[in-house]
Amino acid sequence: MTSTGKVPKRIAILLCVGSRDATVGNTYCSRVCCAVSIKQAMEIKQRIPDATVHIYYMDIRTYGLMEDKLYWRSQLDYRVGYVRGRISEFMRGPNDTVVIKGEDTMNLNRALVVPYDMVILANGMELGLGSKQVAQVLGLEVEEHGFVRPADPDSLPVVSTRRGVFLAGALTGPKTISDSITEGQAAAIKTFQYVSSGAWENPMKVEVIKH
Ligand code: SF4
Repeated sequence: MTSTGKVPKRIAILLCVGSRDATVGNTYCSRVCCAVSIKQAMEIKQRIPDATVHIYYMDIRTYGLMEDKLYWRSQLDYRVGYVRGRISEFMRGPNDTVVIKGEDTMNLNRALVVPYDMVILANGMELGLGSKQVAQVLGLEVEEHGFVRPADPDSLPVVSTRRGVFLAGALTGPKTISDSITEGQAAAIKTFQYVSSGAWENPMKVEVIKH
């Protein structure tokens, strides 16, 4: 439903809002919003089959195995439309519509002025306030965007820079649920090794559990 109680028949979904945008300081990709937005577009079409749904994107990053399940299926089975474009402005239009203005970057930067009943923003991920406070209390190092910095993001992504503190999930950057679960399992194993090795009692053993 729109804010005026109408069933929306024309819906736009804008990707990369607050992500991959140097003007707001978030230059990273939030990793999940393309896939979630496409899934939402298909759900909208299931519930409102005669709706027109357009996804505005810079490029589509469905990561992993989502390409066939989401990207192609949304186009071939659900007729979701994709527009490669940059949206710069919203305006209130007639009959409670929202008019978006921008450029179609696939077609010689053709100007876009398109009315919709509903515009959905795929907001990027940032570290939550509670997580920031926990990181501060524990004295964890953070990186330029405020996420917690692991000891080594490539080889030790679940080990923090503080002895005895292990990390998992979106604390260290945007993650899918399945990646977060995998990291949670790895962090649990690291914690078990740490406790069972007695390293928490003897700082000299710390190097043993890191590798
Ligand atoms: S996952 Fe997609 S929408 Fe989200 S920031 Fe990355 S490219 Fe943009």
